[in-house]
Amino acid sequence: VIEVRGVHKWYGELHVLHGLDLDVHRGEVVCLIGTSGSGKSTLLRTINHLETIQEGRITVNGRTVGYREEGGKPVAAREDVIAAARAGIGMVFQNFNLFWHMTLLQNVIEAPIQVLGLNAAEARDRGRELLKRVGLADKADVYPRKLSGGQQQRGAIARALAMRPDVMLFDEPTSALDPETIGEVLTVMEELAADGMTMIVASHEMGFVRRAAHRVVMMENGVIVEDLPAARVDESTGRIRDFIQKFH
Ligand code: ATP
Ligand code: MG
Repeated sequence: VIEVRGVHKWYGELHVLHGLDLDVHRGEVVCLIGTSGSGKSTLLRTINHLETIQEGRITVNGRTVGYREEGGKPVAAREDVIAAARAGIGMVFQNFNLFWHMTLLQNVIEAPIQVLGLNAAEARDRGRELLKRVGLADKADVYPRKLSGGQQQRGAIARALAMRPDVMLFDEPTSALDPETIGEVLTVMEELAADGMTMIVASHEMGFVRRAAHRVVMMENGVIVEDLPAARVDESTGRIRDFIQKFH
């Protein structure tokens, strides 16, 4: 579903992605690991077109969404084209960025109404269903500030799912959470994985890797240095082993 080919990304002078290649197939759950600054967030943000790239190509569902070729170089497409394409790619960030002035249900139905054109009643029905799915059926009318971090993050997942994405990207979804709420968010993500969602998850949660991931991909200095089936991470003799030993 996701094809990343020879992608280079510079932030001004800073060369962050160095010709990166990655394929993620439908239904696959890929865990992305790597030291701070290796480019994990940048990679996820380029897939979701929150960042432009300077070389290479990224396709999601066979479409070079977000870019058009100009003189052999990828050039950002028009904003409206990008917005339509981005609708198929859900993203969940470290700092659950729910809209603070809206209730949880309003957060979840906003984009389906504005972008997908659902009518309000339909959006509310689906929204309540999604909140139920992430264990927040009783919090629909609550404002985010009254929710725990774990509840906010589950709300952010429901909001992303409301757009019926083909692909979900998670950028360290549990690293800003209190330890006691990490599990409830991982459980929701594991259920999503079991349902067949295609996912890339930047996270060092080895429990999630063992329970839900199919592959573990390690980044270093803007390229992928090791790519293993999750069931075989413990057999790694390379960078992944070194990394896991250092962090766990
Ligand atoms: P972490 O584990 O800390 O989240 P990461 O692997 O996600 O790290 P990135 O956030 O992708 O790493 O950052 C890669 C490099 O790009 C870093 O050197 C970072 O300082 C730089 N960088 C990230 N975002 C920007 C930006 N908006 N402008 C300039 N430089 C940036
Ligand atoms: Mg990051």
